[in-house]
Amino acid sequence: MDDKGFMTLKALQQYFHEQLDSIYGQNEVSSFFRLLIEYKLNIKPVELALAPNQTISKTIQEQFDEVIKRLIREEPIQYIIGETEFIGLTFKVNKHTLIPRPETEELVQWMIDEISNSSIQQPTILDIGTGSGCIAVSLAKSLPDAKVYAIDISKNALYVAIENAILNNVEVNFIQADILNLKSELEDLKYDYIVSNPPYVRELEKASIKNNVLRHEPHLALFVQNEDPLQFYKTICELAVHNLKPKGRLFFEINQYLETEMTQLLRTYKFESIALRKDLFGNYRMLKAIKP
Ligand code: GLN
Repeated sequence: MDDKGFMTLKALQQYFHEQLDSIYGQNEVSSFFRLLIEYKLNIKPVELALAPNQTISKTIQEQFDEVIKRLIREEPIQYIIGETEFIGLTFKVNKHTLIPRPETEELVQWMIDEISNSSIQQPTILDIGTGSGCIAVSLAKSLPDAKVYAIDISKNALYVAIENAILNNVEVNFIQADILNLKSELEDLKYDYIVSNPPYVRELEKASIKNNVLRHEPHLALFVQNEDPLQFYKTICELAVHNLKPKGRLFFEINQYLETEMTQLLRTYKFESIALRKDLFGNYRMLKAIKP
């Protein structure tokens, strides 16, 4: 407190640590605090070091109390701030969208490398289960000649994805549709590339999922039945048989434990040049295949 009874930034920081260190550890709490003062107060970390005794308003103090409550419930910091970064771009996120993962950045980077080296003019790309739109929007951003389509079952996710396309100044054609129950939403459109990061975590894997994910991220985007974990991939392969152009390419993010089953599935649908890639954590996470 200063002499007028206002809380100083330093005191706020101390209070923040007292409340949260036991849950997250000091380092993570420090990085939350830096992020929050930057987003909420527009204070850069260096200012915190230079002017730790500046005071904060009652309103800000109350907002921090609210944030602390949410962090105690293990809500992801990205939802609290309302945005995150993906391949150097800013994306809005909320409880209706998954938080983009670094593994997915690797998948997108693989595609960007491949598509920018291909001779296809104005490639058409379909992203299935777009969520926040991170795949579709970052592809559109890096590949200005591409025509990008993206579908999702969730209207609430699509609102976020649309916002992200506007925020990043790209055009993406968003379509609301259930991939497992497609009517005529995609009609006769033919694509050069189809990409998807569909739900792939089996119910049996729930025990190993952290609370921040399990309690706060949309289960619709994460979980599949133990009995049919490749349900989405099968449906997408069937779609690709019709809607991917000859020599068109399929890119998937996959469950690290199901790479053998995935390869088998792609073979069943007569895809060629099936290639698996490991993510930065050393797990099989990405797959590419070519339609004959
Ligand atoms: N990689 C995500 C996770 O571990 C899962 C994403 C998905 O199911 N498509 O939570």
